[in-house]
Amino acid sequence: MAFEGLAERLQSTFDKMKGRGKVSEADVKEMMREVRLALLEADVNFKVVKKFVNDVKERAVGQEVMKSLTPGQQVIKVVNEELTALMGGEESKIAASRKPPTVVMLAGLQGAGKTTTVAKVANHLRKHHNRKPLLAAADIYRPAAIDQLETLGKQLDMPVYSKGTDASPVDIAKGAVEEAKEANCDYVLIDTAGRLHVDEELMDELQQVREAVEPEEILLVIDSMTGQDAVNVAESFHEQLEVTGAILTKLDGDTRGGAALSVREVTGVPIKFAGTGEKIDEIDVFHPERMASRILGMGDMLSLIEKAETSVDDERAKELQKKMKSADLTFDDFLEQLEQVRNMGPLDDLLQMMPGANKKAMKNIQVDESQIGRVEAIVRSMTKHEKDNPSVMNASRKRRIAKGSGTTIQDVNRLLKQFEDMKKMMKQMTGGNQKGKKKGKGG
Ligand code: GDP
Repeated sequence: MAFEGLAERLQSTFDKMKGRGKVSEADVKEMMREVRLALLEADVNFKVVKKFVNDVKERAVGQEVMKSLTPGQQVIKVVNEELTALMGGEESKIAASRKPPTVVMLAGLQGAGKTTTVAKVANHLRKHHNRKPLLAAADIYRPAAIDQLETLGKQLDMPVYSKGTDASPVDIAKGAVEEAKEANCDYVLIDTAGRLHVDEELMDELQQVREAVEPEEILLVIDSMTGQDAVNVAESFHEQLEVTGAILTKLDGDTRGGAALSVREVTGVPIKFAGTGEKIDEIDVFHPERMASRILGMGDMLSLIEKAETSVDDERAKELQKKMKSADLTFDDFLEQLEQVRNMGPLDDLLQMMPGANKKAMKNIQVDESQIGRVEAIVRSMTKHEKDNPSVMNASRKRRIAKGSGTTIQDVNRLLKQFEDMKKMMKQMTGGNQKGKKKGKGG
């Protein structure tokens, strides 16, 4: 997952600060030195790093911090806010024209993920905004791109406008817009050609397409694995095309994240989506705030809950959220959660989003998907009393459960430990101790 190294470094820097009563100016400087190194190591553009560190220092070294009761946390807060601002501050929504169809053109280097992303965005628009998109295959130089888009269109059951490789991209784009009007489609997503490097011919062609169909959005697709180079590419595309937004792909890879953190600052255009895998639904609206708190180890509870909402039916999702928030978990819930988590996608992804995801605690709750069956058997061998009151578990009960489920006492112990760890995590997610508070608060 992206940002792992950066997250680890920043979090360990901040951990050192958290415990201190008072933070001196020298402490802040030392901390910012670490932050600076961490960002550079994450391949963030050096100009961006310089500005970032200065901005934080300016705010953090001032009285704001010195007067505060927990200055360490205050600094983290400033870093969090600045990191959020760096990535654009607020979520930036994809445009919607008052006079549909809304024309969206995707541009970028070859291999950045344009074709895949056209389909992902179309799927997103239909799934979350109830839109009816048409896909346009205007990448005529990579013949496979047209087939690829057609296949994706079939898979999604969405219309694809293509004229093979003989028509010009301009004619294809125009034709697609006409067809969308006739078919009552409210979005046209145009896949365009890419090259290995930025070149004039490509830019000319993209400019012609732009002039011909005047897109509301020109989204630059950026492979976040390309690091520093991504920023240069973004700059030249933006100079010549005036893009309106960026989409970062391959954030699921082990990219150091520098591109994500630099592109907005360097180009000034908002990041609208993040691609997180090869599958068609592996795309997320880019939330700067959530990304920042994820990097700083504050967890990404909102994303998690959102995922829960779209993956499971409403009633159960609400129930799950309530339980998560109250940290009031029984073994039956645990089982149910495993089931739901299984429906939400790879377990690792999900666990990564939880607070403290990069910390040691994670290792203990990593649930091997192949073992879910065994876990299920163990829980089903418990009595109702045991399920609701895990604390009654003693050696003889464990022995009985192990026997009943065809597992070993070690397996039972491991599960009990996982369960406790998960409960602890739930508590963390809700911001600490829930004792004495009303059950299901905020759920
Ligand atoms: P194009 O040349 O820009 O049209 O790029 P493609 O859409 O053909 O994508 C190039 C490769 O990147 C393909 O193998 C895609 O499956 C892959 N890809 C695209 N987006 C993502 C992503 O978010 N994560 C991962 N892991 N792979 C992606």
